[in-house]
Amino acid sequence: MSDIIIGIDLGTTNSCGAYVNEEGNVKLVPTPGGGTTIPSIFAIDDKGNELLGFEAKRQWLLNPTKTVYGAKRLMGRNPSGGFVSKMKEYFPYEINSSESGKVVISIGDREMNLVEISSCILNKVRTLAADHLGQPVTQAVVTVPAYFNDRQRQAVKEAGKMVNLEVTRVVNEPTAAAMAYGLRKDVNQTVAIYDLGGGTFDVSVIEIRGKVFEVKATGGDIFLGGIDWDNALIDYVLRDFETKNGVDLSKDPIAMQRIKDLAERTKVDLSSRTEAPFSIPFISMTPEGTPLDINLVISRQLYENLTQPLVDRTIEIAEMVVQDSGLTVQDLDAVLLVGGQTRWPAVQEAVQEFFGQEPSKGVHPDEAVAAGAAIYGHSLQSEATDEKMQLLDVIPMRIGIERADGTLQEIFERNAAVPNQKSMNFTTSYDNQAELAMRIYQGDAQTALKNEMLGEFEFSGIRQGPEGAVNVQVVFDCSVDGILTLSAHDADTGNEMTTTIKVASSEQ
Ligand code: AMP
Repeated sequence: MSDIIIGIDLGTTNSCGAYVNEEGNVKLVPTPGGGTTIPSIFAIDDKGNELLGFEAKRQWLLNPTKTVYGAKRLMGRNPSGGFVSKMKEYFPYEINSSESGKVVISIGDREMNLVEISSCILNKVRTLAADHLGQPVTQAVVTVPAYFNDRQRQAVKEAGKMVNLEVTRVVNEPTAAAMAYGLRKDVNQTVAIYDLGGGTFDVSVIEIRGKVFEVKATGGDIFLGGIDWDNALIDYVLRDFETKNGVDLSKDPIAMQRIKDLAERTKVDLSSRTEAPFSIPFISMTPEGTPLDINLVISRQLYENLTQPLVDRTIEIAEMVVQDSGLTVQDLDAVLLVGGQTRWPAVQEAVQEFFGQEPSKGVHPDEAVAAGAAIYGHSLQSEATDEKMQLLDVIPMRIGIERADGTLQEIFERNAAVPNQKSMNFTTSYDNQAELAMRIYQGDAQTALKNEMLGEFEFSGIRQGPEGAVNVQVVFDCSVDGILTLSAHDADTGNEMTTTIKVASSEQ
């Protein structure tokens, strides 16, 4: 088989690889255990060996402080912000701040940033694919939550580079799922994709016209997913234990890991039964040395009550996205459920009620994203033009420049189509001005600083002249991956200026 571009779904909890074989069929990369997904978990064992996937998960109860899971949630976050402090309560591993102000994870005496951890996971999937295919794999289409900003997309490309894997395209997860749905069926439909995974939530409205996939609107929350369901139950169990025994288990990493592990299993159990035991013997001890156990029975009803606000939030977002698409729910031909957490019955009921139709069974919730990425990768390589898929995606949040008064001047609006290009003219504001600096942010807040800074750019080599005499034209180019690059030239002479990125967006 010639060189192929595989598809990789780099998930918060699980990752998955797929490819298109010589017969043109999509295949999932098998994992050694006989499944198709591997846990997105990285660990270092007591001997200092790096472990990944199932091997890492197998020892997470014994070694919680050196087992990193859910790391994708921390990508692109400010280490001193409220979100990271909240995550520190739930994650037993040590989350710190690097000298350059980025989130790093301390594992034993090693410090790793999130790009490194993602690169290990990408490498694991790539290696599984290469072993299975019997040939090297050097290129992949990698999916990200639609609601990832520019900075987080850059981080994924960067992660690939670290392990010599060229990330040919970064594709939004719901868009990839739509590609898996539309494959070869010559579908002409407008569909909504409700994608609730382990750590993130996305909704997209996509028009499929044969091989053209046009995203009409997208929205989401990169901090809403299965982990929040787990955390709701963990909180309940911790509160109940503290009330009964006066002991706060949240400070004990081993106890927390046992609770977390059982919380997720109980959640999965409760998606197909109405009651499940929640028992952990010898979780702690009284000051006198008497062992304490957790002995609870959790009903689905109780769990649903604890997590109703999470379901409501997904529906609020879905409502906004449908509105942004300029359509109504009646215009949608199908609703696709993607992501493991969509197996939760209350989620399915809420989706059905909001969209007024039963969700389609047309895609596999765990595999559609990787499959769609593989299909797109295959299409990028295809010589035949009728095989080529055309992807018209959008940016999830607006991008703008910080004005002197601290507000954000919009360059690309939310849901602006990509690829996209805009240009803006600036004039010099004092005599012989040689440089022009600007800060670019992404987010929907009016105040620039409340958004995510994508970078600080400086253009130098401006022609000497009196104030206002030189026109600098800055070009903002947003690629099909949703990644922004800037360039500038003298509007009168056409001379290119030197662009320096003072704060890079890919520094994650
Ligand atoms: P994904 O990122 O799509 O692999 O989704 C993983 C999330 O789905 C995790 O939070 C899982 O706990 C959750 N999940 C998987 N199966 C079920 C199930 N049967 N019921 C509820 N949640 C599930």
